Amino acid sequence: MQLERKNIWNKYDQSELESLEKVSTEYMAYLDAGKTEREVVKTSQEMAEKAGYVDIQEIIRNKTKLKPGDKVYATLMKKAIALFLIGEEPIEKGMNILGAHVDSPRLDVKQDPLYEDTDLAYLDTHYYGGIKKYQWVTIPLAIHGVVVRKDGSVIDVVIGEDEKDPVVFISDLLIHLSREQMEKKAGKVIEGDDLNIIIGNKPVKGQEKDAVKKGILKLLKETYDMEEEDFISAELEVVPAGRAREAGLDRSMIMAYGHDDRVCAYTSLAAHLEFTEVRRTACTLLVDKEEIGSVGATGMRSKFFENTFAELLEAMGEYSELTLRRALANSRMLSSDVSAAYDPTYASSFEKKNTAYLAKGMVFNKFTGSGGKSGSNDANPEYMADLRRILDENKVSYQTAELGKVDVGGGGTIAYILALYGMEVIDCGVAVLNMHAPWEVVSKADVYETKKGYEAFLSN
Ligand code: MN
Ligand code: MN
Repeated sequence: MQLERKNIWNKYDQSELESLEKVSTEYMAYLDAGKTEREVVKTSQEMAEKAGYVDIQEIIRNKTKLKPGDKVYATLMKKAIALFLIGEEPIEKGMNILGAHVDSPRLDVKQDPLYEDTDLAYLDTHYYGGIKKYQWVTIPLAIHGVVVRKDGSVIDVVIGEDEKDPVVFISDLLIHLSREQMEKKAGKVIEGDDLNIIIGNKPVKGQEKDAVKKGILKLLKETYDMEEEDFISAELEVVPAGRAREAGLDRSMIMAYGHDDRVCAYTSLAAHLEFTEVRRTACTLLVDKEEIGSVGATGMRSKFFENTFAELLEAMGEYSELTLRRALANSRMLSSDVSAAYDPTYASSFEKKNTAYLAKGMVFNKFTGSGGKSGSNDANPEYMADLRRILDENKVSYQTAELGKVDVGGGGTIAYILALYGMEVIDCGVAVLNMHAPWEVVSKADVYETKKGYEAFLSN
């Protein structure tokens, strides 16, 4: 067959359009419930439990013997989650694994953040992941996260999402006085250390020095029973305030914060939860820290996945070092992350044949990386051929892509990490416009096709 990429909207009949809208609505609710890695993992855990998944710690405690059809999940530090549905086939033959990341670019509040300057109270931040800093000023921002007191008690914080909540923001210089600023390079227009969040302007009565800051501290004490020192053990993330919205007059798209990579996390999880039995054991991995190199205990490079899998084998009565190695080597993975959608306004950054488009289906990247595929997992054609068969048999629309033109940039994913076990891995996911901007855009049709693609993969 000839290669052609069609806009996929016209392939749907009325009943399929209804299923598509249902998936979109559920995805938007998932986005609204999870704007940090912790919140996404919590939501995902709740969805898993509702579908009958049991915490592996409980399995270990009760010495439960796992058998085909059993559903198990594990979390790590509330920031990563792995789900397993035990298959009929011997585990040594490997698993079908879906993986995505749940962290997104944002501004993290520093550990000694609060200060006052000229009657304005501020929070200092350090940005997380790759951002165009100038995109984050003058928009409503929300604060999400936790403050952990010295006694271990945890304060959950979400400010700026409820319509009645206040929002916070970063100022920018007015255009009238910006002659000099407008001459600067885009990377320098707003500097990293100038991403200061304005959080107050009202002084406490009868105070001379730092009266506004004192007002904020009083408020924090009253609302959260927290002291200034408690910022030391806080993890507060500043994100765009507001909900996911339908985009386009025809409502064909979704605009939201954090599509990268919750669009793949949601579709992977939702596809996984459709199953009650599988031939090959199904696994879905939602991990943290991809945006800063998959580092740390909750990032894909940690032993969390391998440790959890070892526990799973033990609970199945199958654990041995060799079985673990064989099962991992015989596994197959769809490592999912968003792909850059072709943007006609910036056409020169893309190569039209090898780029992803909105509304043209699930995206497969044989490789990612930058500057000569550096840092990429390069998937095998034998594996891709089998995936083509599976996708075609299940009428899933897909496209192949690279992240932009050769030598204009690039990006990484978690694919290379699982590939270390010697398993087949390919990068795939959903096309996104404005990737890493405060508000990113995806096509509802691509979200729907991608979920279908994952279901097809897990059923094979
Ligand atoms: Mn990503
Ligand atoms: Mn990213």
